[in-house]
Amino acid sequence: SAQKKKTATVQGAVATSVMTSSDIDKKVKELLSKMTLEEKVGQMTQISIEVLLKTENGKAIEPHELDLDKLATCIKKYKVGSILNIGGDAQTVANWQGVIQAIQKMALEENIKIPVLYGIDAIHGNNYTANSVLFPQQIAQAASFNREMVKKAAEITAYETRASFTPWTFSPVLDLGRQPVWPRLWETFGEDPYVTAELGKAMVKGFQGDNLVTDKYHVAACLKHYMGYSMPLSGHDRTPAWIPERELREYFLPQFAEAVKAGAKTVMVNSGEINGTPVHANKHILTDILKDELQFKGFAVSDWQDIQYLYQRHRVAKDNKEAVMIAINAGIDMSMVPTDYTFCDALLELAKEGKVPMSRIDDAVSRILRVKYEVDLFNNPTGNAADYLQFNSAEHTKVNYNVAAECVALLKNNNNILPLTTGKKILVTGPAATSMRALNGGWSRNWQGLNSDETEKDHNNILEAVQKTFGQQYVTYSEGASFTAVTNIQETVAKAAQSDVIVLCIGETSYTETPGNIDDLSISKSQAELAKALAATGKPIVFVLTEGRPRVISEIESLSSAVVHAFLLGNEGGNVIADVLAGKINPSGKLPYTYPRHVNSLHNYYHKDTETLKFDEWGGYNPQWEFGHGLSYTTFKYTNLKLSNTLLADNDKITVSVDVTNTGKVVGKETVLLFVSDKVASITPEAKRLRAFDKVEIQPGQTRTVSFEIDKNRLSFINYDLKRVTEPGDFDLQIGDQKASFTVTEASSRNN
Ligand code: BGC
Repeated sequence: SAQKKKTATVQGAVATSVMTSSDIDKKVKELLSKMTLEEKVGQMTQISIEVLLKTENGKAIEPHELDLDKLATCIKKYKVGSILNIGGDAQTVANWQGVIQAIQKMALEENIKIPVLYGIDAIHGNNYTANSVLFPQQIAQAASFNREMVKKAAEITAYETRASFTPWTFSPVLDLGRQPVWPRLWETFGEDPYVTAELGKAMVKGFQGDNLVTDKYHVAACLKHYMGYSMPLSGHDRTPAWIPERELREYFLPQFAEAVKAGAKTVMVNSGEINGTPVHANKHILTDILKDELQFKGFAVSDWQDIQYLYQRHRVAKDNKEAVMIAINAGIDMSMVPTDYTFCDALLELAKEGKVPMSRIDDAVSRILRVKYEVDLFNNPTGNAADYLQFNSAEHTKVNYNVAAECVALLKNNNNILPLTTGKKILVTGPAATSMRALNGGWSRNWQGLNSDETEKDHNNILEAVQKTFGQQYVTYSEGASFTAVTNIQETVAKAAQSDVIVLCIGETSYTETPGNIDDLSISKSQAELAKALAATGKPIVFVLTEGRPRVISEIESLSSAVVHAFLLGNEGGNVIADVLAGKINPSGKLPYTYPRHVNSLHNYYHKDTETLKFDEWGGYNPQWEFGHGLSYTTFKYTNLKLSNTLLADNDKITVSVDVTNTGKVVGKETVLLFVSDKVASITPEAKRLRAFDKVEIQPGQTRTVSFEIDKNRLSFINYDLKRVTEPGDFDLQIGDQKASFTVTEASSRNN
C-alpha cells in the first residue's frame, strides 16, 4: 500500500499512518472519479450545526442532541461534506464526541463513505468546549513577541480541539490590526505585517504539527480573513475598504503568503468589499493571487453566508443562483452556507447548465478531499476519548499561565511604584476587577463571550487573585463604575482615602464582529469619571487596562502612576495580573500596536513622514505609547551595535549584532526589535519598518549578544508596477538606542 508507518513526535504517542503528497493526489483522483455531481456539490457545502439540533421552543435543547431527521436531510439528501460551529453555548467534551460520532456514522453509511470535516472557531483554546483551557487572545499573544509561546499555545489548543473530535480550527487571524475602531482588532497579531507573519507561522505550526498529514493531536489551520478585511474605511465591521493593489501586496498579503508557504491547509475569505468588489466575487484575489501566484493547494471556504450576501447585501448578483455562479467561478471552494440548502440546489443547476464548469467543481472538490486526507479523516473520522486525558490538565493550565505571563505590557511605572511592596492597603476597583468576561473577550464559550463570569467562575478574576497574592486583610474592593455607568462612586472614593494604593481595572467588556462596533474610541465616560474621582484622593493609582483595542485614555492617563496593559489574557489573567503587581512576574510584553493619544490621530508606527509633519504646535508624531513600547522591572542597556559589512549587494547579507545587558537587579526578558528606514525610494518610504525581532532572557549583570541577518529581500517593497524590489541607496538601522547605516549597492532587481 501507499501508506507508510511513522512514529509521531507529539506527546510520545504512536501516530497513525502517514501519506506523502503524491499518495494523496492519487487517492483524491481515485475518489473523485467515483463521485456523482450531487456528491461533489455536497462536499462544497458547509452547514451550521444549529439547524441539525433538536430544539424546544426554537432553542437547542441542552445538552445538544442531533435531530436525526434533520441530519439525514443534510447528509443523505444533500451529501453535505462539512459542518461547523456550536449553535449556542459550550458543550462538554463527552457531548461533542457523541455528536461528532453520530455525524460520522451517518456519513459513512453513504455509498461514497466520505467523513464530514467538522470546523470550529477554536481561537484561544478550544473555546466552544466547556472547561477547555482559555489562552490569551491573539492580540495579547502578539505582545509576547515569543514565537515558541505562540506555538505551544496552538499545540495545546489543537490537542483540546481534537479531544472534541474536531480536526479543523478557523484560526489564526492574519488580518492586520491597524484600525482600532474595528471591533476585531483583538483577534489579530497587531499592526505589523512581519510580526503577524512570524507569529502566524508559529501558530500554524502549533496547530498542524510538522507532518503533511496531521496526527490525532493536531488540526488543520484556517488563515483568515483573506484579505484586507481589517481596514474598512469607517472602522465598522464588514463595511467598504479602499485598498489599492500595491498596498494590499505591501501590507496585507505577505503574512498570508508566508503562512501558505508554511503549509496552512485552508483559508477563509474576507466578508467585506475592497474598491467596490466584494472579495467573495473577486477572481483576481481568490484565484490569480491565492491559487496561482501563492500556489495554495488547500481550499478556500467562504465566511458566514457570504455567497448569499452577494445578492442580499452587496447587490452584485440579482439572486442566489447568480451569486453562487460568481463566487464559485471566482475561486471559492466551500460555501459556509450555513442554514439552508439553497447553495446546493443552485450549484447543481449551474453545473448542469455549464455555467460553472465541471473543471472548477472538480478542482474545488479535489482541494477539499485533499485536506480530508491530510487531517487523516478517512483513517480516523472521530478519535478515541482515551487518547485525550490531558484535556484541561494542570500541565495545560501551567503553560497557559506561562504564556499569559509574557503578554502583559507595563506601559508606565512612575518612581517604580510597581511592584507593590507588601503590607500596603490596596483598593481594587473598576468594572474589569471582577469580570472574567473582560479578561477573556469574545469567542469564549459562546460567540460574544457573554457568560464567562458564570462559566469561568472557578478561575480567579483580578480581585480574587489580588486577594490571594497580597492577603485578604490588605485588600478592599468597591466597584465604582460599570463599563457604562458610575455606581457607588462615593463609597469607592471613601475606601480609596483609607488605602495606600488604588488598582483601577478598566477597559472593555467582551464583544466581537458587528456587535462590537463603536463610534468613539475613548474609554467610556463612567470609567473616566471614576478615575477622576479617585485621583482627587491623592492616592497613587495603578491602571490595569483590560481591553481588546487601545481605548484612548489621554484624558485620564496623567492621573495614573503606573499602567499595566493586560489586553485579553484569558483564564489565567487574574493570577498573572496579581503576580505582575506583586513582582512575581517581571513584565516583558511590548505593544503590538501604536497606542493613540487622540481619537483622530490613528497613525501606525510605519506611517509616512508627511502624515506626521509638525507645523508649530500642530501635528507631529505623538502617540500615547509607541509600537514596541513596554517596560520591565529591570533595565536593559544596548551597546556595541555591529554590522558585518556596510555594503549590501545581491545574494549578500549583513550580520547585525548588538549586546544587551541586564543592568538591573532581577532577571528579565527583552524583545529586541530591529528597525530599518529606507532613506530614498520610488514609493514614499515609511518612517521605519520592523525587519527582525528576537526575545531573550537575561540574568542581572549578564550580557547577551543578539544577532540578525539582513538580506536584500528583507528590505524590499512593492513598487509602482506591483513588483517586489529592493532599490539601491542608503538605509538607517536602529536597535534600541543604537544606530547604524548601510548601503544597498546594485541596481534594483526583482526578488521574491
Ligand atoms: C466570522 C469568522 C468565523 C465564522 C464562523 C464569521 O462570522 O467572521 O471569523 O470563523 O463566522 O463562526
